[in-house]
Amino acid sequence: MAMPTTRTALTVAGSRSTVPRRTAAKEVAVIGAGAAGLVAAREMRREGHRVVVFELGDSVGGTWVYTPEVESDDLLGVDPKRMVVQTSLYRSLRTNLPREVMGFFDYPFKEVPGRDGRRFPGHEEVLAYLSDFARDFNLLKCIRFKTDVFHVSRVPDGKWLVQSRKVFDDDVSLDTNELFDGVLVCNGHYTEPRIADIPGVDRWPGKQIHSHNYRVPESFQGKVVVLIGSAASATDISRDIAPVAKEVHVSSRSASDETTKSQTGYNNMWLHPMIQGTLEDGTVIFNDGTSVIADVILHCTGYKYYFPFLDTNVIVTVDDNRVGPLYKHIFPPSLAPSLSFIGIPWKVVPFPLFELQSKWVAGILSGRIALPTEQEMMDDVEAFYTQLKATGYPKRYTHNMDGYQFEYDDWLATQCGYPKVENWRRKMYAEASKRRRTQPETYRDEWDDHDLVLQAQEHFLSLKTLKI
Ligand code: FAD
Repeated sequence: MAMPTTRTALTVAGSRSTVPRRTAAKEVAVIGAGAAGLVAAREMRREGHRVVVFELGDSVGGTWVYTPEVESDDLLGVDPKRMVVQTSLYRSLRTNLPREVMGFFDYPFKEVPGRDGRRFPGHEEVLAYLSDFARDFNLLKCIRFKTDVFHVSRVPDGKWLVQSRKVFDDDVSLDTNELFDGVLVCNGHYTEPRIADIPGVDRWPGKQIHSHNYRVPESFQGKVVVLIGSAASATDISRDIAPVAKEVHVSSRSASDETTKSQTGYNNMWLHPMIQGTLEDGTVIFNDGTSVIADVILHCTGYKYYFPFLDTNVIVTVDDNRVGPLYKHIFPPSLAPSLSFIGIPWKVVPFPLFELQSKWVAGILSGRIALPTEQEMMDDVEAFYTQLKATGYPKRYTHNMDGYQFEYDDWLATQCGYPKVENWRRKMYAEASKRRRTQPETYRDEWDDHDLVLQAQEHFLSLKTLKI
């Protein structure tokens, strides 16, 4: 779905509230040591700020730390008391972006001898890249592992109270209360499952699973599976389970309401429109009137933004998956610049976008880059919402940047005095997206954008990375 053509949210609000002037270094808390938290920490340190990164897990990488472990609530991921597993990776996962496009601007995701050198590598290679990044920029010393931030709130002098709990190896825990000048929320948004609303499902006798808890195909052996979704994980997982499942029925919003058709290249996979309802005998009925008796419904239906630790006095809310109000998807106007969110947009190339967001926040926190006034930021957010509404764009797609991510990146880059997104990266992204649609089985291993690969490699050779 394309964004509105006039993009008020991407224009710089007219006047500036302050004259850019570098102020003292800030004490900054970064919540999360995934790709967003790592690059945020690097940018904060480059700008001279002092950083503490809080990380629940015992290593860097966030989503990219694969585990065979799944959650304790029977695999749907909806019980708030469940034991939460951060990652949503499946064992077979390979990137859906070419490595040249995916990497940070000045720290290319290059092949390393002896490791997975494929252009669309397996998940272990992404984790290795992020670990290298943390090591090369000396970030490990700022990270407190096994430390859960459980409460963040603003205190009267404008600082932020961050309450965290460190769990030691002997399971003893220590709570700490600290004050920071700024908080960057980098907790990721692929952990809290969104479940499809299916009429009658309460009495449907089969098993429901969310893709967050999908790891390997073996448990689908001989099963009839209805898989809901059409995004990257739905495409991957349907193909992962097809060789072992008896039948795979993919129900998708993008399929026409009238047709069920078999999936090219498979004799046990069909594409269906959305689910109309389910019956107590195990039947799943689709919108075109066709039905199957299924064993499993697998929800590949995405995720919800979730900030259980954040207390902003209801200034920032999540409403139908709109996190708001956020100026440029980053700053709540009345709490800017001390509170910011890195990594909210989706349908994007995440790492470079996180990098530019972090550069901008770092420069603003130090006073080198100015923000518009609170009112101007609020007006900008309101104008953006009005545009979305006028074009019929659902609220839950507020942070979907399909079709305009590079424009957003360029806007941020310009604010930071940084070069715009490289032409080869834009073109290569477009090529990969096209191939993913037209050759979903082979797009990771067959391509013809060799000229773009060469351009990327030449560009990487010209880079001089500053390792601080
Ligand atoms: P995360 O990686 O989720 O990191 C958040 C971190 O915050 C975690 O380490 C978590 O432990 C920590 N945390 C959370 N809450 C707290 C707390 N209260 N206290 C302390 N720490 C906390 N992107 C690509 O570029 N290419 C791909 O091919 C690709 N494929 C993907 C496939 C799947 C199945 C998924 C789910 C995502 C994929 N992505 C891909 C997107 C991916 O999520 C991003 O690339 C990126 O890794 C997100 O980084 P993040 O730092 O925002 O979040």
